[in-house]
Amino acid sequence: MQHIIDRFVSYVTVDTESDPNSETTPSSAKQWDLAHKLVEELQQIGLQDVTIDDKAYIMATLPSNIDKKVPTIGFIAHFDTTPDFTGANVKPQIVRNYDGKDIVLNEAQNIVLSPKYFKDLLQYKGQTLITTDGTTLLGADDKAGITEIVTAMEFLIQNPEIQHGTIKIGFTPDEEIGRGAHHFDVEKFGADWAYTMDGSQVGELEYENFNAAGAKITFKGKSVHPGYAKGKMINSMLIANDFISDLPKGETPQETRGYEGFFHVHHLKGSIEETVLELIIRDHSKKKFEKRKELIEKMVQKINKKFAKQFGEPIAKAEIKDQYYNMKEKVLPVKHIVDIAEEAMKQVGVKPIIKPIRGGTDGCQLSYKGLPCPNIFAGGHNFHGKYEYVPVESMQKAIDVIVKIAQLTSSTDFENPAPKSRRKR
Ligand SMILES: [Zn+2]
Repeated sequence: MQHIIDRFVSYVTVDTESDPNSETTPSSAKQWDLAHKLVEELQQIGLQDVTIDDKAYIMATLPSNIDKKVPTIGFIAHFDTTPDFTGANVKPQIVRNYDGKDIVLNEAQNIVLSPKYFKDLLQYKGQTLITTDGTTLLGADDKAGITEIVTAMEFLIQNPEIQHGTIKIGFTPDEEIGRGAHHFDVEKFGADWAYTMDGSQVGELEYENFNAAGAKITFKGKSVHPGYAKGKMINSMLIANDFISDLPKGETPQETRGYEGFFHVHHLKGSIEETVLELIIRDHSKKKFEKRKELIEKMVQKINKKFAKQFGEPIAKAEIKDQYYNMKEKVLPVKHIVDIAEEAMKQVGVKPIIKPIRGGTDGCQLSYKGLPCPNIFAGGHNFHGKYEYVPVESMQKAIDVIVKIAQLTSSTDFENPAPKSRRKR
């Protein structure tokens, strides 16, 4: 297990924080530091066609070691860390044989990782945890994923008796600022499907995410001296306020879970003359998603009708932009790619936890670019902050799952990959 720890530590101690305010790719020059190191390492362990392009996207190939033709599969992870919390000077702490009690991350600053608050810790009693020193994030998101993919490839190279088809691996920059898939060359990658190793706790397997849109609604007003305003003033802030009140009750992020969609008002800025309201729309169901967008349009029309006479022209305007879609639409027609991952987990003693993502992943963008791409656990918890930790045993399980998926893909009969009844449209 020590080689997993060493490899992981060698990655997280390189700062790769991405920068949403930058327009370059990668968004921060420091991401090159780890990118170059990874390229070298991939060559060293014996992968072939190791490439890095001018935007720091890394790809490599493990050639097939069998005669028959089987699907080419890929494993993908991102090497940047979130700009939400510092990733500079990460000093990983190794907690061996975790006793189920509080872990003091930083004595001087009294920062404690406690199972009283983070109950998930208790399922890792007796295991080896890697934590922060309380002053930075850890970067298990997603350097755990990179560790697992590299180690699994190394294992397959060192154990050539394990049969597998061609395996592609891809490491990307800038996932945390939503751009990881933007410059991913799906054609060059050349896999039939892939998995992002970017989920959280051991067992997670995800292939459903939100359909997402953003709406910007602009309300116009008319400013008049308040003393002479009767029948003349139109206060755009109050119209926006009415609009928000008219949104369906109980459909906010804080009141929903599972497959429940929502409207989320996240920005409001106004004066009497003009108020701009920004909200996001989320729903797993494509039909309900479209209905939600229609509702916004209808509410805007209703306000325009109400003020038509007084204002003369439309008083409100909505700009609605789709952001990403549910990968389920692209994955269900090839559902066997999820079934293989589920079976692989069961065969290595991991209980699959299949649940819808309340957000998006790089995999959903890749799925719409033609590379169906479910998400598998990387093992970490409490991403994007100082309480982030990862059990080494979970990383080992992820490695086992990758190896098993490679094996199962080479031994499955893909002439009849999935029963017809499971196929959607
Ligand atoms: Zn991630």
